[in-house]
Amino acid sequence: MCRHIGYVGVPVPVGEILTRGPHSLRTQSWAPRDMRGGGTINADGFGVAWWGSGPVPVTRYRNADPIWTDPAVEEVLPQLTSPAVLGVVRSATVGMPVQRSACAPFLWDRWAFSHNGVIPRWRSVLTAVLSDLDVAATRAGMTRRYETSHLLEAEALTDSAALWELLRRLLDPEPPAGLAETPGTALRLLVTGVLHHAPDSRVNLLLGDGGGLWATTCYHSLSALITDEFAILSSEPYDDDPRWQPLPDRSLVHAEPGRLSVETLEAGRSTATESLPL
Ligand code: GLN
Repeated sequence: MCRHIGYVGVPVPVGEILTRGPHSLRTQSWAPRDMRGGGTINADGFGVAWWGSGPVPVTRYRNADPIWTDPAVEEVLPQLTSPAVLGVVRSATVGMPVQRSACAPFLWDRWAFSHNGVIPRWRSVLTAVLSDLDVAATRAGMTRRYETSHLLEAEALTDSAALWELLRRLLDPEPPAGLAETPGTALRLLVTGVLHHAPDSRVNLLLGDGGGLWATTCYHSLSALITDEFAILSSEPYDDDPRWQPLPDRSLVHAEPGRLSVETLEAGRSTATESLPL
């Protein structure tokens, strides 16, 4: 499956987040250590998003070729500096297209998103999740509709691109309000909805807005490295810094510089907030 990394903190060269450490994201593309049976290498393209102060809040670069073949990683991306970066290397799920538009991060507004995993039978499962959301919105007296036609707006015919079409609507704060009050509740609502219809789904999600990172762990690995200067969430640690913390499966994670919160993902247990020692 894919590998992803999110960074927020003191400004860094964008390319450096892809190549930092002896077990960098780029190295994880050809020599990952913890794939848990979901593929062997991550050679079906890569992408990186970064945030700036210009008119466009978040920008990205993507390529459907393996990350180690692209000279921009050494020659261009290190010239850009940003306080937040979200990088992904992709291993396409069997049957899904290998193309640039299927490479995360997916963007909308100030958000960038990546999915490490797979949703079996994603077309019918995500249609059912949309329908559940629509019923919930109607019950809550909202005028907003969640329609299956939203899935047609997905950038690529993949589970991850379609999942983003649902999540970005849950994140949309414009009135009428979405069902989710915070990015964390949006992720929880979506992942529990997917698991309800396809309990065998693998849904490690990573979401950033340039100021914070939110993530879920559901089957795949994720570790956190938090200091006062920066916060990093990464599928695999990129070095042997003893401050890396492996995050438990079935968690909802929120990270900012100097702060990590880990809650149980399951609905109804959201009060089990635990701030891990840093
Ligand atoms: N299913 C997604 C895709 O094909 C993500 C794959 C992954 O995590 N390797 O793009």
